[in-house]
Amino acid sequence: MFTSKVYKKSPVSIQNILLSTRALVRKKLRENNKCEQYTQELIAHEYDSELLGKYHDKTLNKTIKQARNTVEYYKSYDLNLKTFPFIDKLEVNSNKDKFLSSKKSGAVIKGATSGTTGAPLVIPQDMQSVITEQAFINRGLAWAGFKEGDKRAWIRGDMIVPLEQKKAPFWRYSYFENMIMLSSFHMAPANLQSYIDTMVSFGVQVIQAYPSSIATLAKYLEVNNQYYPGDLKSIVTSSESLSKEDKHLIETRFKCTVFDWYGLFERVAAIASCEHGRYHILTDYAHVELLPAGKTESGQQLAEIVGTNFNNSLYPLIRYKTGDHVVLSDEPNCPCGRVFPIVDSIEGRTGDYLIAEDGQKVHILNHIPKGVVGLIASQFIQDKKNEITILVVTDKNKFNTEQCSILTKNAKERLGESISFKIQEVNNIPRTKNGKIRQAICSL
Ligand SMILES: [Zn+2]
Repeated sequence: MFTSKVYKKSPVSIQNILLSTRALVRKKLRENNKCEQYTQELIAHEYDSELLGKYHDKTLNKTIKQARNTVEYYKSYDLNLKTFPFIDKLEVNSNKDKFLSSKKSGAVIKGATSGTTGAPLVIPQDMQSVITEQAFINRGLAWAGFKEGDKRAWIRGDMIVPLEQKKAPFWRYSYFENMIMLSSFHMAPANLQSYIDTMVSFGVQVIQAYPSSIATLAKYLEVNNQYYPGDLKSIVTSSESLSKEDKHLIETRFKCTVFDWYGLFERVAAIASCEHGRYHILTDYAHVELLPAGKTESGQQLAEIVGTNFNNSLYPLIRYKTGDHVVLSDEPNCPCGRVFPIVDSIEGRTGDYLIAEDGQKVHILNHIPKGVVGLIASQFIQDKKNEITILVVTDKNKFNTEQCSILTKNAKERLGESISFKIQEVNNIPRTKNGKIRQAICSL
């Protein structure tokens, strides 16, 4: 909606109304009685290992059984998880339809993954799955002390303010959610004080943000030797990796705890940090296996996150290799009392960025390849200020001139109209020595 002509051309007051109405409809669809009931059930077992264990085993068995009975890809396996093969994004992308369950009910909602490789994976889900996901989000907010009606700030990469707009306000209001939404795309140094002032005067209690957006504000406060002058309950981050250094900086400058969430659209794992800063693997969200993957430079054990989703019976993914890693912890339990296993940290995706036309670093590149048909992988290379090369690995039958223009249009929306984009087809995107593909390489 935010990139539509109608929205972009409306005055701010109308944009506020459009945005609030959209939020209200989404809230009504997701946050019904069923969602509330499920949230309470999730909260009830997090301090009880027996109850949690039973819930996990029951859900895992149900997931495997349903997948075997209704999904072509899994029909030849028996009911033992260990006999299922490991799969990854490429395998799913090459067998898209074989993962779809034959048992459908109600509306199907499609969403696309993003991630470092830039090869979107379209995943269908039903309304039940959307509601269940919301229940987990609500429990996460409860960990962060959020209560219904609390005033929130949202800085999560939504294009709520048109990119062409160069003057404040760089925020809009979602009235029914009691929320101020601030643009992640207008965070030039000269604008940052107005972000802080606006949140303070709105009386924000909880901030939900992309790590890169809230870290930008924390760095601004640090550079100016300031602390956030408002009174916050907490900050909730997700969708990008958050380094320990940035988490510490944000907590110091905003004087509250950061609750970080690792998840992915495949929904095969969720890891959340608590009020004691420990990362808990949410064993009621998915079944997670940790595959040994060597050691860190300081000698700690690394493991790859491999997950089985509990919450998408329409598109079950079993033993899905995420390519993301955790550093294992020696701690057997957490002072918070929750019985979920603990990991030391998450070594997720790297914080690659490009420089936009106004000189800002743009970290949020995940949206650019979205909706481009036939695009298997991409990487952005910027050697000059106004020129970016996009390396693309494509399915040549589907990736045509029209898709090329969609990709360019998406890129210009994020980075600026004056930048020229050269699309270059390659067979492979070069990998780093760790075997990872960087989303962007900027040598400026
Ligand atoms: Zn804890």
